[in-house]
Amino acid sequence: MTTEAPIVIVGTGLSGYSLAREIRKQDKDIAIVMVTADDGFSYSKPMLSTGFTKGKEAEELAQASADAMTEQLNLELRTFTTVTGIDTTAHELVLGDERLRYSKLVLAWGADVIRLNIEGDGQEFVHSINDLMDYRAFREALAGKKRVAIMGAGLIGCEFANDLRNGGVEVDVIAPSDTLMPGLLPSPAAEAVKAELTELGVGFHLETVVDRIDRAGDGVRLALANGETLEADLVISAVGLRPRTSLAEAAGIATNRGIVVNRALETSAADVYALGDCAEVDGHVLLYVLPLMACSRALAKTLVSERTEVAYGTMPVMIKTPCCPTAVCPPPSDAAGAWELEQEGSDVRALFKGADGVVLGFAVTGRFAVEKQALSKEVPPIHD
Ligand code: FAD
Repeated sequence: MTTEAPIVIVGTGLSGYSLAREIRKQDKDIAIVMVTADDGFSYSKPMLSTGFTKGKEAEELAQASADAMTEQLNLELRTFTTVTGIDTTAHELVLGDERLRYSKLVLAWGADVIRLNIEGDGQEFVHSINDLMDYRAFREALAGKKRVAIMGAGLIGCEFANDLRNGGVEVDVIAPSDTLMPGLLPSPAAEAVKAELTELGVGFHLETVVDRIDRAGDGVRLALANGETLEADLVISAVGLRPRTSLAEAAGIATNRGIVVNRALETSAADVYALGDCAEVDGHVLLYVLPLMACSRALAKTLVSERTEVAYGTMPVMIKTPCCPTAVCPPPSDAAGAWELEQEGSDVRALFKGADGVVLGFAVTGRFAVEKQALSKEVPPIHD
């Protein structure tokens, strides 16, 4: 390691920029270089699934340009620059033909969308929306069109379903599960969201999958495994994300579901750290904003002053389905206990209680959603 090499952060998503901000709160001058494969615009990714409700074009969701961020954070920012390798022995990043030395390297390069291999000649009508550029491309493709089929009934699929309906688009959701957001919501809460989305006009095709997507007129025809066919102008694929691990793995850095880091965000390679959607922190892959903010604060301290481990608070997830406001804090997967339910129509309060009566998790929908702050205070942090 040489002292003159900068801290290098790969990625200008919420993780990369949050970390740079946190470093600057502690040290105004330490040299930072950020490298990103995209245009470096600062934006809040959660806004991508509320853009139609709020009538926002991609340009309106962009909060600051790369130049503005460079000035604001007093750093060097290299846009449209893709990292192709890491030489951990030489402390160098490989950028195609070029090499960039680092004193400390932070991988904040996010997650890839999972792409299904579906038969048919309609693939160019299938969009995934995981960044601002995807959002821009989707909005341009949707201009003048009215029918969207969404593959996936997870959080992102459900949020886009609500958002597009609010924007006057006809929406069909297709998913193999028998309920919405399985693994995140207990079934009474999932049924409440489904009932309200159905009321809003969303069509659900559950317990089936899309077998083929073929061109038909100006759009596509989807053939489902249950024998149904659907017509759509565009398709959104929202079937999941996979942390980006391949470059780290190729560099000999330990990976599992994500890039493996401890609570100090240290990878298995000296002076290399990871956070955000690409990281598996102490066994947890948490693809949400609150965890990455907590990680940014801890890592900034480690990089600038003293080694600091992340401490998570309780982190409820707000599901942006305004037709049925929903908040959830899933109990730990190994928690012993049972759900207690209070329900009136689509207003659900589900509390997961341990044997001693302590609330270990919750899901609240409709009029009970306002209780999320109070309930969050009762639930122990994800890992203390
Ligand atoms: P990203 O934002 O994906 O950033 C990755 C960066 O790395 C990009 O700049 C990319 O260009 C760069 N990069 C990748 N590979 C390379 C390479 N090889 N070389 C150089 N640069 C590279 N979370 C919540 O908590 N609440 C919500 O309401 C919520 N809503 C969401 C709605 C949607 C539609 C989506 C998609 C996600 C939502 N999330 C939400 C999740 C949350 O937004 C993400 O967890 C978070 O934004 C991830 O940020 P990141 O910086 O880790 O990754």
